[in-house]
Amino acid sequence: MEAAEIGSWGFGEAPLIIAGPCSAESEEQLLVTARALKATGRVHILRAGLWKPRSRPSSFGGEGYKALEWLRTVKQETGLPVAVEVASPLHAEACMKAGIDVVWLGARTVSNPFSVDEIVAALRGTNQPVLVKNPLGPDLELWQGAIERVHAAGIEKIAAIHRGFTPYEKNRYRNIPKWELAIELRSRIPSLPVLCDPSHMTGRADLVPGMAQKALDLNMAGLMVEVHHDPHNALSDKEQQLDIPSFKKMMERLVFRASTSDDTGFRNRLGEMRDRIDSIDNQIIELVASRMRISREMGEFKCLNDITIFQLERWLEILQTRTSHGVAEELDRVFVGKLIRLIHEESIRCQEKVMEELRERGGCPPADQGGDE
Ligand code: PEP
Ligand code: MN
Repeated sequence: MEAAEIGSWGFGEAPLIIAGPCSAESEEQLLVTARALKATGRVHILRAGLWKPRSRPSSFGGEGYKALEWLRTVKQETGLPVAVEVASPLHAEACMKAGIDVVWLGARTVSNPFSVDEIVAALRGTNQPVLVKNPLGPDLELWQGAIERVHAAGIEKIAAIHRGFTPYEKNRYRNIPKWELAIELRSRIPSLPVLCDPSHMTGRADLVPGMAQKALDLNMAGLMVEVHHDPHNALSDKEQQLDIPSFKKMMERLVFRASTSDDTGFRNRLGEMRDRIDSIDNQIIELVASRMRISREMGEFKCLNDITIFQLERWLEILQTRTSHGVAEELDRVFVGKLIRLIHEESIRCQEKVMEELRERGGCPPADQGGDE
């Protein structure tokens, strides 16, 4: 599928900066925030939630339809385009009627294809820009599916927002970033702009600037940041909303790096480094292939000698020696552990496959458990 470039949406060039309160609480609150954000000269779009998807029914659920009127006033006064979350076809219709510039589908909505279908039916045939947050769980198919549903309704101004994934256990972040998924989405749909929401990702105002920088360093197409004029008294997400001075400070300090350069010296040097990386990657593949050939040979040898594939002591020794070696080579301990586990798993799979083939041909004693390298 083809998505329209952010620059052609009419709000400005990437990185697109969307900022504003988690929830619209009053016209006054929206005006104070929008004026301050406009004055920074760095914000392209004002965000505000009108219908808040709350885990517990006792939490503030948003001001709903009446806040559309406030947004209309704010837009008229500041000239800032506005973005609102829609979770039902009624929300979507009301937003379009009220001249809301951008709508977004929240993480909970994206987790349910029926909801996405219903909303998309209301958006069909409009030229409404739509942002699609990632679903709650790290399911790339579900995220991509929602994007495809929106696109199938004829919408081309479409972007994804990486806002992190619900952790199973208590974590430093409210929602765990999975950059590899965001990058995989970009490689599957190269024309799709992918933004980052560091506010819902971190859940903590002090961690927002660092995460925003990380997103920019990974060449994300923009940021959606929660900003409140008085976070302590915010009616939702008070821990993660930046106050206005902190937002300004963050915008001044963020480094916007170019993703490429026309400088010949730079390009040549980068080209040389990439050549070296390519050559090393090829060597890694060849080495792993040699290792697996030995594994297959060993599988056959063990099978013929009626020995199990997995031997615990040997595996513990491999893990220990390779990890120490990796750490001595200044590699990260966790990374080496993961790498060696992955290689070991594949080695066992190769040995099992050889044993199975041999057995089928009657060249090996009947199956028992399995062994190690
Ligand atoms: C929000 O943006 O206010 C929101 C509810 O986000 P998410 O859907 O990412 O939880
Ligand atoms: Mn919020």
